[in-house]
Amino acid sequence: MIEIENVRKSFGQLEVLKGIDLTVSDGEVVTIIGGSGSGKSTLLTCINGLEPIDSGRILIDGTEVHAKSTNLNKLRRKVGIVFQQWNAFPHLTVLDNVTLAPRKVLGMSRAQAEEIGVRQLTHVGLGDKLKTYPGRLSGGQQQRMAIARALAMSPEYMLFDEVTSALDPQLVGEVLDTLKMLAQEGMTMICVTHEMAFARDVSNRVAFFHQGVMAEIGPPQQIFGDPQNPETRKFLSSTR
Ligand code: ATP
Ligand code: MG
Repeated sequence: MIEIENVRKSFGQLEVLKGIDLTVSDGEVVTIIGGSGSGKSTLLTCINGLEPIDSGRILIDGTEVHAKSTNLNKLRRKVGIVFQQWNAFPHLTVLDNVTLAPRKVLGMSRAQAEEIGVRQLTHVGLGDKLKTYPGRLSGGQQQRMAIARALAMSPEYMLFDEVTSALDPQLVGEVLDTLKMLAQEGMTMICVTHEMAFARDVSNRVAFFHQGVMAEIGPPQQIFGDPQNPETRKFLSSTR
């Protein structure tokens, strides 16, 4: 379970998160939508401890992410994160890119890491690209490699930040299908997305962020069909 309690965060004078509360249960898929600069990415980087917070708490299975005593490296293994773009090591094969962290961070043997790497790459539909170099992959394949790389660490939670927004439109579907598959398998996920159809189809709940506030959260039918907050309505009509 991920528990976010009254989290505030500023960059200099700019308050980017103004008291965010959100609990994500195991197996739940929460998507975050909202305008540019509303704090969506910042929240994800706070959840896995890449960014400090000013006040409030974030707990992952009861462990406080920003407590001094918390072993962040250990915690981050539980929480995979995939961004818009990930720069793979160009001189390493796809499989070597995916097995690097399990070997270096988890101390797995090459054979053990490769077994997991092959399994995860096959899982995301890249079983025939193991020995290819990342530069030869399409954008959609590169994003699926990034997802496989995160999955190779056996995370319990996955955070996705606009993983399709740098892709050509015809490549978006294959990456969203991969996320859908993970959701159906029961992965607990928080997905920042501007793909409204995806948010509607896959989420248990959709959160709408506006200027650092979670202005509204609810099941997709309610958020898309009967939004209560005027800002949600304005945002959704601008995306249609
Ligand atoms: P987008 O949809 O454009 O990705 P977002 O909702 O993800 O937007 P954030 O990236 O969380 O927005 O940024 C929220 C605000 O915080 C923005 O005004 C941004 O300029 C600012 N910000 C983000 N990261 C930093 C940083 N490292 N230093 C200073 N300001 C930052
Ligand atoms: Mg962002």
